[in-house]
Amino acid sequence: MSKFWSDVVHKLTPYVPGEQPKLDDLVKLNTNENPYGPSPKVLEALKLEAADSLRLYPDPNSEALKAAIASTYQLHSENVFVGNGSDEVLAHVFQALLKHSRPLLFPDITYSFYPVYCGLYEIEYQTVPLSDDFTINVDDYEQPNGGIIFPNPNAPTGIPLALVEIEKILKFNKHSVVVVDEAYVDFGTESAVNLIKTYPNLLVVHTLSKARSLAGLRVGYALGAKDLIEALIRIKDSFNSYPIDRFASAGAIAAMQDQAYFSATCLKVVATREALIAQLNTLGFDVLPSGANFIFAKHRTRDGAEITAILRQKNIIVRHFKTPSRVAPYLRITIGTDAQSVLLIQALREIIHQSE
Ligand SMILES: *Cc1c(COP(=O)(O)O)cnc(C)c1O
Repeated sequence: MSKFWSDVVHKLTPYVPGEQPKLDDLVKLNTNENPYGPSPKVLEALKLEAADSLRLYPDPNSEALKAAIASTYQLHSENVFVGNGSDEVLAHVFQALLKHSRPLLFPDITYSFYPVYCGLYEIEYQTVPLSDDFTINVDDYEQPNGGIIFPNPNAPTGIPLALVEIEKILKFNKHSVVVVDEAYVDFGTESAVNLIKTYPNLLVVHTLSKARSLAGLRVGYALGAKDLIEALIRIKDSFNSYPIDRFASAGAIAAMQDQAYFSATCLKVVATREALIAQLNTLGFDVLPSGANFIFAKHRTRDGAEITAILRQKNIIVRHFKTPSRVAPYLRITIGTDAQSVLLIQALREIIHQSE
């Protein structure tokens, strides 16, 4: 607290990301990073970029990157907005498209950055409870609102929502922007990108941090109708007109172009996920259906916080959320390599059997 702070700073509750410990021998399954490195073509592109050109400002409009993203989805560059990670893209989305006189709607259990942006931009919001099985009930979004946002698959549950259900939300809310945050969509969830041409109120947000293994580079983007993208550009050019640096741009372009490497790593993660779920079931865990590179799992008798703490002593980190109370029994476990799954299952077997 300081007398020098503005009112808004006093009122902020900043987002707290999962920890990034400095230990080498950790099995780190807490922040949904990809266990596989980026495409070798990304590393080549980064080396090429380490050159004299770094003394020059990057392209303020990221034209080459936008073109690479547009061609991946058969869209035009005017349908693409890029930012430093999708968190920055989302920040601009909240300010440009979701701040209206009626409250913004999002699920009660969802990405916990959403209420943080509402605090920062002083946006009124109303949370919509998930059903008892943690699914989104789209009928609940048939009420007056100033915008809607949810991740698909949802976080931290991992549960995917079918496109027909998303279409119901879009059809009922023709006068507000519906943002689908598809951070984890490439791990087996259907993307809403093809609906953009039909629904001018749809904005889809993607990141290169998860499926494209580039969390350290900070690139994300939004896809939507031209006038939605224009609103985001107006905010960006009033805030930071050179957002994507030369390295991020070069690496991201190479990552978008190497579809073969991308598909192969996604398939590996999905296969590891399915094998891990089967083993967790035999250890007495109930796992929610996942279309993501993480799972949300609850043991039938043991406490979520306790299991998380004991795993930590065994150098395995998973994420645990204390609130709201109905998620407290759960662990959110990032899908790592098969070898990491073996270590996790070994540790959990010890924990579960010791208590019997
Ligand atoms: C990881 C994540 C993001 C942000 O990713 P960036 O690294 O900022 O691109 C956005 N939304 C959800 C739901 C996420 O889990």
